[in-house]
Amino acid sequence: TPEDRALIEGFQERDEEPLDGPLPVVAIVGRPNVGKSTLVNRVLRRREAVVEDVPGVTRDRVAYEAEWAGRRFTLLDTGGWEATPEGVFLKVAEQAEVAIEMADAVLFVVDAMVGATDDDEAVVRLLRRSGKPVVLVANKVDDLHQEAEAAALWNLGLGQPWPVSALHGRGSGDVLDAMLDVLPEVSAVASQGPSDGLRRVALLGRPNVGKSSLLNKLAREERVVVDDVAGTTRDPVDELIELGGRWWRFVDTAGIRRRVHQTRGADFYASLRTQTALEKAEVAVVLIDAEESVAEQDLRVITQVVESGRALVVAFNKWDLLDEERRYYLEREIERELVQVQWAPRVNISARTGRHVDKLVPALETALESWDTRVPTSRLNSVVGEIVSGHPHPVRGGKQPRILFVTQASTRPPRFVVFASGFIEAGYRRFLERRLREEFGFEGSPVEISVRVRE
Ligand code: GDP
Ligand code: GDP
Repeated sequence: TPEDRALIEGFQERDEEPLDGPLPVVAIVGRPNVGKSTLVNRVLRRREAVVEDVPGVTRDRVAYEAEWAGRRFTLLDTGGWEATPEGVFLKVAEQAEVAIEMADAVLFVVDAMVGATDDDEAVVRLLRRSGKPVVLVANKVDDLHQEAEAAALWNLGLGQPWPVSALHGRGSGDVLDAMLDVLPEVSAVASQGPSDGLRRVALLGRPNVGKSSLLNKLAREERVVVDDVAGTTRDPVDELIELGGRWWRFVDTAGIRRRVHQTRGADFYASLRTQTALEKAEVAVVLIDAEESVAEQDLRVITQVVESGRALVVAFNKWDLLDEERRYYLEREIERELVQVQWAPRVNISARTGRHVDKLVPALETALESWDTRVPTSRLNSVVGEIVSGHPHPVRGGKQPRILFVTQASTRPPRFVVFASGFIEAGYRRFLERRLREEFGFEGSPVEISVRVRE
């Protein structure tokens, strides 16, 4: 119908991806219970209304892609950071320090009804030292009478306190507009450096899998340049390494080289590092220690990669240590544990001996090519048409949802939008993904399929 057409065309226009660098990062910082998560939800609401049905978007993520007044940015949610997954309690200032370091601008949330506390003052000192733009949110100002409370926060010396009710939305538009005024267009923190066109790789994996050994191996045998990304605080350094005849940007390698072993919250910091590296990367190499069983932590890193929509290569390291028996059991383990990323290219390497390290480059190239793939709409619809006629959606409640049209909304990774006449079950969506992969490959890239139901 003409309405469908208009909808579809509008959608295609809106989702052209930016090729001009990583989105700026906004961190929402503040004490527990001041309303950070509530504010995050308020910012995300618009976006969620547009894309209601993206699989893999879970609530426990650290970073979200958000949009306000037509500008997109990465929103860093520190709500819930105080209790790490290991049950370690992080001080407010500790969290704030990490978040500020990762951010291009900070929304500092204070509970205006409580007023500034010692913890708030500690964060203010960190904010001053960072020199980053800060917008002060005086939250829980639910009505006009409470604005006097907000004005008291001028005392913090961070400029104007913006009276906001994150819960009801009051004043939230104004404060976000103020934030956009100070936010750079392109991130200096999640920087890809000068738009040098180099592909950006993150080396990831839990401690001791061999990340720094692999980095050393790659860097020692090849030419390397250390690139100190300008305008950032503490050594977020990339290394440019020439491999297979071209230069690659290995992002955030300082985090690997520094090898700080935090005693408190080590896992927590490791997953944050993973997240920041992913923000900057296009493709991730996840290292797994082949000698040990595939662990929960390995799977968590892989999930982070998939959820962030980056291309993925899985590298089993320490291959020099394997005997035949272990190799046999490893294959079984991989079949069992890594089914959900069967599509990722796999290399079996030894960072120590250099075995098969040269296979990394072709794997990276394959993954990136898939990540960049755009399937022409006509081809897509004829393929999906065949898939669907060979295996229609099951009838539910006497009705059979029909697929009206499919379009690829974006690349990096490929995201498909299916317009349907009724609800499409998760099982059928997975079936579609599997068949699309059979048809188009997408080796090394996540694929997202979302469904829009025409009412
Ligand atoms: P966080 O720990 O900083 O992420 O805080 P939350 O977003 O979880 O909010 C803590 C509590 O404050 C929740 O009960 C919220 O409903 C409440 N809250 C958040 N924003 C407001 C607000 O603007 N007004 C009022 N009255 N309550 C709020
Ligand atoms: P990271 O914490 O992931 O950076 O891991 P490291 O690179 O520091 O490696 C942890 C340990 O594993 C070190 O003792 C390395 O020498 C060892 N290691 C790393 N790669 C290999 C490998 O391919 N084979 C063997 N045998 N040991 C390795």
